[in-house]
Amino acid sequence: MSDSELLQSSGGLASSLISQLESTAESLADGLFDLQWAIHEHPELAFQEHFAHKACTDYIEKQGFEVTRHAYGLQTAWKAVYEVGEGGPVIGFNSEMDALRGIGHACGHNLIAIAGIAAAVTTAHLLESRKISGKVILLGTPAEEAGGGKAYLLKRGAYDGMEACFMTHPGTQGYGSAISTLSCNAAFSVKYTGASAHAGAVPERGINALDAAVAAYSNIALLRQMLPDSFRVYDTIQGSEGWTANVIASESRLTVGVRCPTAKETYGTIDRVLNCLKAAALATGCQYEIRREALYFDMQQAHELDDYFTKVCTETWGHKGYTVGRSSSYASTDFGNISYHLPALHPTFSLPDSRAGDFPHSNTFASWTGSKSACEAAIQSAVSIAAVGTRMIVDRAWAKSVRDSWVRQMESIDGSETVSKIEKLVESFPLSPETSNAVCCGHDETNKHSNHV
Ligand SMILES: [Zn+2]
Ligand SMILES: [Zn+2]
Repeated sequence: MSDSELLQSSGGLASSLISQLESTAESLADGLFDLQWAIHEHPELAFQEHFAHKACTDYIEKQGFEVTRHAYGLQTAWKAVYEVGEGGPVIGFNSEMDALRGIGHACGHNLIAIAGIAAAVTTAHLLESRKISGKVILLGTPAEEAGGGKAYLLKRGAYDGMEACFMTHPGTQGYGSAISTLSCNAAFSVKYTGASAHAGAVPERGINALDAAVAAYSNIALLRQMLPDSFRVYDTIQGSEGWTANVIASESRLTVGVRCPTAKETYGTIDRVLNCLKAAALATGCQYEIRREALYFDMQQAHELDDYFTKVCTETWGHKGYTVGRSSSYASTDFGNISYHLPALHPTFSLPDSRAGDFPHSNTFASWTGSKSACEAAIQSAVSIAAVGTRMIVDRAWAKSVRDSWVRQMESIDGSETVSKIEKLVESFPLSPETSNAVCCGHDETNKHSNHV
């Protein structure tokens, strides 16, 4: 098949290819609805997505993909590969799976799971039917809501060799998509250790760890006023199960997220927040140990992937009122880490039947993410990212242009320098025990390190 049959003269895939992606997706719709519904009805927390792991891998294996379960040392990660020919270009898609404590699939990762599958399967079928050399890798990525599974997959080589990578996430009410900014997020926890004593009889013998947590909380509240509007620092105190009013608390824990529009700004803010934690220990005489919870980079939407995604959506569904907007969000994703590593795109798709004002991470949003129309919107968005991915494989001049443009984008934000600086800072603290247990099978992620005043 010649390039002229695959590409429009004006740039982009021939409309017959996009129609083919659409019709393949349509043929998968019933099965994908059942799959996302099953995941929706079995919500699982970060690193515990065992039901979704099995359901997704069983499904994609039946589609002819070569599947690796429990991939890269993560129990609930998986990899599915479909290759046509040998040595062709490689593109990647992602399927998230995890839910939120208490409110289930209120972020709609059940839909992300099937959107990744739909994008990978439609692309693979197109390559196969037209004998186009190329490889599609679909990663099942655990723990987006906490822990940052993709960061570990990235470090362990899961994204190596991909020329571009895609995923799509549900958004708010409407008919269309949006390309959104997403903030960088560095999360830490601090454990304060003091000494217990009778709070009435001999309080002077105690060292109050709850006071340390309260002081840290207050320090952060004071700092917050001094930060730009677009910066977010949020925290919570833990440990109340072990506290009694008449006993000086000997242990407490505070978790804190430092969230800024860019990794560079986050890097410049982390020390100010950590100083709030350390000052509280100094003031109360407690010992402290700071651990890292996660580091999510801001999402760098690759410009040329964004432009072509917008063109595909507009040309294919614009006549039905489908829109592609631009928005700013202070949400975060571990897919941001991938976007600093290779050209990546993370559009959101609207849920047509949800109510205006229903946002992810709310009970009401969870009630929409299992609906028929939400599933259709996810599959429609999957077709769009499949089209962009297919063009990467078919249109090699454009693929080079995507890469060159992304390199310039990274240079404009000092991407590689920022990655190494912020990772060095964050990784100087040991992982929290919870994350460490989840990610360390066969991998040494714990570096012993503690801080005491
Ligand atoms: Zn979420
Ligand atoms: Zn999410």
